[in-house]
Amino acid sequence: MTRPAETPRARTRGSAAALVFGDLWEYDPAPETADPRLQEQYELFINGRFIAPRGGRYFDSINPATGRRLARIALAGKPDVDAAYRAAARAFPAWSRLPGRDRAKYLFRIARLLQDRAREFAVAETMDGGKPIRESRDFDLPMAAAHFFYHAGWADKLEYIVPGGRARPLGVVGQVIPWNFPLLMLAWKLAPALAMGNCVVLKPAETTSVTCLKFAEILRDAGLPPGVVNFVTGAGGVGAAVIAHPLAAKVAFTGSTEVGKAIMRQLAGTGKRMTLELGGKAANIIFDDAPLDQAVEGIVNGIFFNQGHVCCAGSRLLVQESVAERVIPRLKFRLRHLRVGDPLDKNTDIGAINSKAQLARIRGLVAAGVREGADCYQPACRLPDQGYFIRPTLFTGVTQSHRIAREEIFGPVLSVLTFRTVEEAVEKANNTPYGLSAGVWTDKGSRILKLSTELKAGVVWANTYNKFDPASPFGGYKESGFGREGGRQGLQDYLQIG
Ligand code: NAP
Ligand code: MG
Repeated sequence: MTRPAETPRARTRGSAAALVFGDLWEYDPAPETADPRLQEQYELFINGRFIAPRGGRYFDSINPATGRRLARIALAGKPDVDAAYRAAARAFPAWSRLPGRDRAKYLFRIARLLQDRAREFAVAETMDGGKPIRESRDFDLPMAAAHFFYHAGWADKLEYIVPGGRARPLGVVGQVIPWNFPLLMLAWKLAPALAMGNCVVLKPAETTSVTCLKFAEILRDAGLPPGVVNFVTGAGGVGAAVIAHPLAAKVAFTGSTEVGKAIMRQLAGTGKRMTLELGGKAANIIFDDAPLDQAVEGIVNGIFFNQGHVCCAGSRLLVQESVAERVIPRLKFRLRHLRVGDPLDKNTDIGAINSKAQLARIRGLVAAGVREGADCYQPACRLPDQGYFIRPTLFTGVTQSHRIAREEIFGPVLSVLTFRTVEEAVEKANNTPYGLSAGVWTDKGSRILKLSTELKAGVVWANTYNKFDPASPFGGYKESGFGREGGRQGLQDYLQIG
């Protein structure tokens, strides 16, 4: 930290910009310099080898902080997806018969190799997806490794998962994941599937394939038998081919509710198992007896973590009317202090929006909020000249009929509503087709217990937000999907019991 300044101005050193506004302190640029060890071109990972797509086609992965190409990625076609499934089916008998303690050794090895290369992976994740290095370094990477460590511990304990029942793996599992936590979602999907003895064909999101293909290097270095895990890259069409393949015994999908519904229609009657982790529009509820400074930090973390590209983001703030006048100014003060800019700068709070298309969607919903009559507040920070950025945005005067109160924005945009009674808070919080998560801030334990049962959400955080642990199951209600990831419950979705 250097000095306070009076007037807004921007300083640039290298690619990082330090911004100074009014009562703010200026931070010198602190770019992360570790080498992400990227290749110019990435191939498919099938049967333990990196192979070119049969159609010979590639697409660009963009660095959203610059708008420029980061790497070329293989575009899988149907024959490639088929080859991946056949490799997985060939690997399944030996992998599933391996004693659990031996499968565990692979998972432990993968976790340790990921830890060894954590810094490099964090930089690659930030460059490919736009999230602040502070988050990829302190959250995505440690959590991804933790999921492998946790599930390694279960691999030799299948008989304890459902006491009295006989647990067997399902076979080959098709998995499709989104772009908001690319490596972490991969870990959430792979670790339980492998621990339980399944083989996998996984497709990452089109905009964030790099860490998935780097992760293939770890699988190779860990000596994982060929075909146990296969990665096919490309856009939605490749995802559809992964979902539809006849060799898939189960499909695990994380993504939008719209695509999730299409998958349900597609798989109806096929007998395939399915888990869907879909969208959300969580209420973060602040009661008048809550510790307000702490709550304001929780609100900021709830919506601005990962630029708001979080399915469980606390995107609807419900504040008790009697404290709204104390909460909103504090929130605005905090927004003015958030640093938006170069994701590789260690002081950045809000990085780049993941893609041009997502930026356009967020801007469209912000414009709808203004048009429908809500009051829009954005701090006067200067955005970088290149790349996809948006200011953190706060809407007050929001009603339940506004689009910004109903639709998932998946960006750094918070809609504030007020309530008077506990019943009204519950009613408003549940007034959504989604049901993934919720937050409750109050000093009163009995109220926490009451709300944790009355809120129709898979996860309810009390006096905290966005807390995750591999041992704690995560998943939705209603249009947020079904199935759980993490904990003993998550394992059951990768087993046949009986
Ligand atoms: P999306 O469009 O549904 O995409 C998710 C994945 O599905 C991507 O890999 C995508 O490929 C692929 N895909 C697209 N169309 C498909 C189809 N017809 N059949 C099979 N796969 C298809 O969602 P997104 O916009 O990337 O991700 C954001 C959404 O995910 C948000 O709604 C968010 O709430 C949700 N999400 C939920 C959780 C959770 O745990 N509940 C976690 C994270 C995100 P391309 O990207 O290449 O098109
Ligand atoms: Mg990218």
